[in-house]
Amino acid sequence: MENLVEVKNLKKYFRIRKNKILKAVDDVSFSIKKGETLGLVGESGCGKTTCGRTIARLYSATDGIVKFNGEDIHKLNKANLKSFKKDMQMIFQDPYASLNPRMTVGSIILEGLEVHYPELTAKNKNDRAYKLLELVGLNKEHFQRFPHEFSGGQRQRIGIARALAVEPKCIVCDEPISALDVSIQAQIVNLLIKLQKDFGLTYLFIAHDLSMVKHISDRVGVMYLGALMEITSSKKLYSNPLHPYTKALISAIPIPDPDIEENKKVIKLEGEVPSPINPKPWCKFSERCKYVSKKCREIPPKLKEVEKDHFVACHLF
Ligand code: SF4
Repeated sequence: MENLVEVKNLKKYFRIRKNKILKAVDDVSFSIKKGETLGLVGESGCGKTTCGRTIARLYSATDGIVKFNGEDIHKLNKANLKSFKKDMQMIFQDPYASLNPRMTVGSIILEGLEVHYPELTAKNKNDRAYKLLELVGLNKEHFQRFPHEFSGGQRQRIGIARALAVEPKCIVCDEPISALDVSIQAQIVNLLIKLQKDFGLTYLFIAHDLSMVKHISDRVGVMYLGALMEITSSKKLYSNPLHPYTKALISAIPIPDPDIEENKKVIKLEGEVPSPINPKPWCKFSERCKYVSKKCREIPPKLKEVEKDHFVACHLF
């Protein structure tokens, strides 16, 4: 299948103070095929959200290339940029903060339609908004209400309807379930899976909950301190993780069987994630890795293919 998104050596740095640079995304490369879901996981502060936002062009890249449908998104002319903004939508982490409290649900959904489909009549736009509300499990009566009248799960459904309104090709789902109750999380993930099948959508699904990522993703990339540590199919990552960091993350996933859960071996990571400000120029995981060697503190490991479609950045491989 063709690639819809191609990310090559992407860097996004923020200058904090003179001589202090926060390397939120530091030389990341991957691609997403049309109709595929790529999960991006890692602890808070690993750069996954910044990576997603840079791919959606909410941030401009410091260096590297992001291609969408074969075109460099940082070199688009005005007309093509507008078309890209329609094709690439975002669902945000916090459904409480991402919806304007002064706007009705209807006007939130119609906003994108006004920009990208000005030729539609008011009736056509409203009909489309009603349909979208039904698609995401709400109904026509919700059109005139305000976001504060809804629960967290319902607000996230409004966020999904807003993203779908302009008929995008790809959606960056930025931790869309992490602010929701556990009981609601599966409903939202299942809704996203259904919508993907119905509309042939491509997802970049960012999360720190590895069990949900497994459920929705075809492939998964693991980020640590702005860099990609491992990327492969969801099946391979969960059955045969190779990078020491991925192994630790997978070992900590709760198993819904009390006997297995009690006896399973959890790999404990010592210490905190180091600061991404002026990071060391060698293996970013070296301060917490029990396999660290002299080489790890001299040469940064490159992401390389160690078996078919299984890429790891570690000198052990
Ligand atoms: Fe650990 Fe070295 Fe591999 Fe880094 S390169 S993860 S320090 S073994």
